[in-house]
Amino acid sequence: KKLTGNEVRQMFLDYFKAHNHMVEPSAPLVPIDDDSLLWINSGVATLKKYFDGRVVPENPRIVNAQKAIRTNDIENVGFTARHHTFFEMLGNFSIGDYFKEEAIVRAWEFLTHGDWIGFDPDLLYVTVHPEDTDALNIWKDVIGLDESRIIRIEGNFWDIGEGPCGPNSEIFYDRGEHYDTVTPPEEMYPGGENERYLEIWNLVFSEFNHNKDGSYTPLPKQNIDTGMGLERIASVIQDAKTNFDTDLFTPIIQEIEKVSGQKYGESEELDTAFKVISDHIRTVTFAIADGALPSNEGRGYVLRRLIRRAVRFSKDLKIDKAFMYNLVDVVGDVMGEFYPNVKKKASFIKDVVKGEEERFLTTLDDGMQIYQGLRDRALAGDKVIAGKDAFKLYDTYGFPYELTVEYAALDGLEVDESGFTEEMTAQKQRAREARKSGDSMQVQSETFHSITEPSVFTGYETTSSESSLLY
Ligand code: ATP
Ligand code: MG
Ligand code: MG
Ligand code: MG
Repeated sequence: KKLTGNEVRQMFLDYFKAHNHMVEPSAPLVPIDDDSLLWINSGVATLKKYFDGRVVPENPRIVNAQKAIRTNDIENVGFTARHHTFFEMLGNFSIGDYFKEEAIVRAWEFLTHGDWIGFDPDLLYVTVHPEDTDALNIWKDVIGLDESRIIRIEGNFWDIGEGPCGPNSEIFYDRGEHYDTVTPPEEMYPGGENERYLEIWNLVFSEFNHNKDGSYTPLPKQNIDTGMGLERIASVIQDAKTNFDTDLFTPIIQEIEKVSGQKYGESEELDTAFKVISDHIRTVTFAIADGALPSNEGRGYVLRRLIRRAVRFSKDLKIDKAFMYNLVDVVGDVMGEFYPNVKKKASFIKDVVKGEEERFLTTLDDGMQIYQGLRDRALAGDKVIAGKDAFKLYDTYGFPYELTVEYAALDGLEVDESGFTEEMTAQKQRAREARKSGDSMQVQSETFHSITEPSVFTGYETTSSESSLLY
């Protein structure tokens, strides 16, 4: 029998409890006492207080299942098998207690031992930093992994600027050649470029301090920080083609099938819509449960954009009324056992989501009016809708550019695309300038500002920079 997502989460906590870790509850997505982050985006983000010594933990060994939001991955959502804007990170942590060897031994035992996950060890690959001979030797000599499965990667160094940092080691699962015919080691990394080798777990060995002046000095205490994506490991266990085909998503997708009358699994384009909507409703539900609300700035703006983006994708499924709010109960059914506040606050969350959806549908109607004015002018003139006008419609009235193009085509008109792109580029440049001065909060919202609705897939992320963990 295949483990469910809920069972995997529990098994992870149980395994590390059995090895003397204390369970730290999943913290709210809205950071407490930390204005460097827009959202909690990893397990370690809520434990910084222990890593930087502000608080001494009751027990130096900690385990958690932490809710995380990463808007910087949004362009991948619906297009890769493995990215979400909301996901759960399973992590074990050592605050000056065990270091590399135990971290590696524990991870390996959890993944491969028959009493726990029991993966076939021959399907696992690991990466290490080229200079991290300690990690290399542990994988080789203690674990007994063949050297051909240990891949040296320059980018395997965890560094977020000032603060603790160090090399890391990631574990990949080989999902088989029917996913991709690339071969390790060269082509498997960064994992983003293929759907065969799936990064499941990241082990960070913090052993240096990145000082203000740019120098690195050894830390007095060495720490361990790990993170494994629950949805990803569940997809491997359940032999699911993507994270969206696990039991963590299927009930949500089935509900969208019911509302839309469309079927999941028949066309790539429609599947993307199913995936995006099911992803975004989880993010929105959990964020509102944790105290965020849609608005025009910061976190609230992220929620607003996510809801609008999902509504845009719902057009592909021929849905033309508020519907997302009904999915909140399904999210509660799937996740409520471990996250009771999602169920407890369901009716409030539904009200908020429904209000947002309806407001956006009205916006679309209003935009339609303005579009009609532009149309009449273009029909009487050069049969082109100016890029500036299309941009204004998008930027000021929230009317998606794709809709302008779609309607223009129906009316026998053209839209000046290069003019639109020019305006868009100028806006992104302004955001980039804001970012220069910026903290991670701005970085996240800048990423978000630069996304069109619905986003066009521009390829997998090209930087292997691991700093995304702390955006
Ligand atoms: P990837 O290279 O696949 O984008 P990552 O290296 O950015 O992942 P980490 O920052 O190392 O991810 O996060 C630790 C773990 O959390 C990853 O190994 C993965 O299992 C999971 N994870 C990271 N980002 C996402 C996401 N956007 N959606 C789902 N799971 C994620
Ligand atoms: Mg990675
Ligand atoms: Mg990683
Ligand atoms: Mg990433």
